[in-house]
Amino acid sequence: MDEKSNPGTLSESSECLFSFGVIADIQYADLDDGYNFQGSRRRYYRQSLLHLQDAIEEWNKESSRPCCVLQLGDVIDGYNAQYKASEKALELVLNTFETLKVPVHHTWGNHEFYNFSRDYLTCSKLNTKSLEDRIVHHPETVPSESYYAYHFVPFPKFRFILLDAYDLSVLGVDESSPKYQQCMKILREHNPNTELNSSQGLSEPQFVQFNGGFSQEQLTWLNEVLTFSDTNQEKVVIVSHLPIYPEASDSVCLAWNYRDALTVIWSHQCVVCFFAGHTHDGGYAQDPFGVHHINLEGIIETAPNSQAFGTVYVYPDKMMLKGRGRVPDRVMNYKKEKALHL
Ligand SMILES: [Zn+2]
Repeated sequence: MDEKSNPGTLSESSECLFSFGVIADIQYADLDDGYNFQGSRRRYYRQSLLHLQDAIEEWNKESSRPCCVLQLGDVIDGYNAQYKASEKALELVLNTFETLKVPVHHTWGNHEFYNFSRDYLTCSKLNTKSLEDRIVHHPETVPSESYYAYHFVPFPKFRFILLDAYDLSVLGVDESSPKYQQCMKILREHNPNTELNSSQGLSEPQFVQFNGGFSQEQLTWLNEVLTFSDTNQEKVVIVSHLPIYPEASDSVCLAWNYRDALTVIWSHQCVVCFFAGHTHDGGYAQDPFGVHHINLEGIIETAPNSQAFGTVYVYPDKMMLKGRGRVPDRVMNYKKEKALHL
């Protein structure tokens, strides 16, 4: 292994099994730079495509090529919808991803739903469910079509799970549908503000329109997959646009029912880490059950002279995130009893 693919703090006996790339919140738009809602962070709408090209170039030339890239959601910005540029912007981003020499798994964020309906996304190239793996004789581990989630095995004994954090949401669904009515009811019960994107005065600030949650059906499915992974002694990586652990995230960015997701995850041994986007600022915390929560820094708020992506190197006893630019390096040890015996 050369110096580049070795983050440097490894014990000499450990051998890298495989690696994967992570990138979040590209939010491309053909617009001049702007600012976030609070006016505190600059957004580089055009530069974001160049940042993506740069990341792909680096992944393509790694001596030991990553097995895949996990795209954590919000590939194009909601502004595209106002300018009727959604399809054009998506095409540019997807054409850029075509130059990546490994598969990319796309997660869906709120900005996907500002531009497209759920039905449109399901038929688009942002639906990468065809890359899922099925577990034979375990129909309970097959996801329903009513949410966009799946799991796959990039390397024996490692399972990756993509979650749909907008399974419960008022975004992307027809206002006349029962699902919309149900989700609007949940949102209004927790948020009395006229502007539902405002968390002002809320005891649970995550109940805003730009967030969403996980249906009981999806959580039951997640529980089944994790039960299988426990039995099969696998290590699991979970990906979701929305974060679920308060210590690692601004509370206004969490999934509506993040506690329900944590309850499922904490009832299993197999989960090593949980990657999310959405916050743009980045964050990290290890929870009391040993799960590492990583919120990746967003491309959109990354200056032209910096970078924001990473490669995760997987070892028998840990995962190591090698961050580029403003993404810091992280060592994610498995819990002692969770070390993989090869
Ligand atoms: Zn988002």
